[in-house]
Amino acid sequence: MARALYPGTFDPVHRGHLDVVQRAAQIFDHVIVAVLENPDKSPAFSAAEREEFLRLALTDIPNVSVTRFGGLTVACAKEHGASVILRGLRAVLDFDYEVQLAMMNRHLEPTVETFFMLTKSRYAYLSSSLVKQMAKFSAPVGEFVTPAVAEALRRLALQA
Ligand code: ADP
Repeated sequence: MARALYPGTFDPVHRGHLDVVQRAAQIFDHVIVAVLENPDKSPAFSAAEREEFLRLALTDIPNVSVTRFGGLTVACAKEHGASVILRGLRAVLDFDYEVQLAMMNRHLEPTVETFFMLTKSRYAYLSSSLVKQMAKFSAPVGEFVTPAVAEALRRLALQA
């Protein structure tokens, strides 16, 4: 049984993330999407909101679950019985940082392997921060996020 943990901030989740989960669900027996509660990053959405957006978006995939974590990714992987940490790769820009993370995680827990999944080219330039910036200036984001996220971004823009 290969279980994969897909950790991230997901602030908020977008179609690039969802595409990675959908494809991973066809490869691994189970995919656990883990929302990082990272106070250093001061996210736009609370961990509970980010988790809920993911849950709503992934409800139709039976072998995917969503959780939240606050500590080390490898500890979360062990806790959930995952032998794989899954990360998405967009451009070369992601590579250095992702390799650094993967190496450190291997050092901490050699039994957990990091797998990288390449984004689909149409999502290569998609990031949560870009989506938030677009929404802030009332640019349409419906193509990149789920309806629940688009609505929440609209509300956020109105409050600003
Ligand atoms: P981080 O976990 O670094 O704070 P995110 O929460 O945005 O960043 O992303 C979680 C994971 O999804 C990371 O592995 C990231 O590289 C990947 N990812 C982000 N955007 C995309 C995209 N457009 N296509 C594929 N993977 C992506």
